[in-house]
Amino acid sequence: MTNEVWAVRYGTRVTTRTEAYLNWHVYGEPDESFRMDYFFWIVRGGGRTTVVDCGFDPEVGRRRGREVLVDPVDALAALGIDAGGVDRLVVSHAHYDHIGNLPRFPDAEVVIARREYEFWTGPYAGRTQFAHATEGDELAHLSAVRDQGRLRLVEDTLDLAPGIELVVVGGHTPGQLVAQVALPRGAAVLAADALHFYEELERDRPFFVVADLLDMYRGFDLLREMTQDPGRLLVAGHDARVRDRFPALPGHDLAVRIEEEK
Ligand SMILES: [Zn+2]
Repeated sequence: MTNEVWAVRYGTRVTTRTEAYLNWHVYGEPDESFRMDYFFWIVRGGGRTTVVDCGFDPEVGRRRGREVLVDPVDALAALGIDAGGVDRLVVSHAHYDHIGNLPRFPDAEVVIARREYEFWTGPYAGRTQFAHATEGDELAHLSAVRDQGRLRLVEDTLDLAPGIELVVVGGHTPGQLVAQVALPRGAAVLAADALHFYEELERDRPFFVVADLLDMYRGFDLLREMTQDPGRLLVAGHDARVRDRFPALPGHDLAVRIEEEK
């Protein structure tokens, strides 16, 4: 199975180490600012398109102080993909920057971890330390998708399609998903927010939004294992270095092709 994987950068902001990393003070290093990008991903193979996450609603992103580089649905259109016609949308987790445009994919089967869905529709979803990264109406829309019979729940792992495997890792959220996509040479590991920045893995430093710290460290170990063989390409969810690591998709400023590292 030949798959092609693209990462699309649709938003950006400048943050600081203190804001981005859990308990930054324990490292005894000075704070500094750095860029945080926002991505979603596209997998094409076997005549089908799978969209992985759908970005924040531009209005919500602006309200939260994020810079909108492109409306994610417009970015898809520029790549020849009509959101209204997408039939498979994987949701790595339910934070606002990953499910914000769900209503604009009315025909898609939406794939999410059962633990993720049950947490965000359960009694603890509204507690501030969890709720700050979500939007109530967006979580309600997930439930609406389920009522419509379009929600597919992943238990621990799922072979979604030839060459596309989903793994529930938890950590960042209760049911954070990672996708592994077979490529002609090796595989792409779409970590989404199991790894916001490569530095989290390189220096073993968790991001500040944590549902379960032990699961987050286990997720780091799993990502190391998944990417130890040659040809395994690790794609972080929010790292500006994604643009340096992978070649631009010709004709599309904001997209890179996950095929081999530059
Ligand atoms: Zn995110």
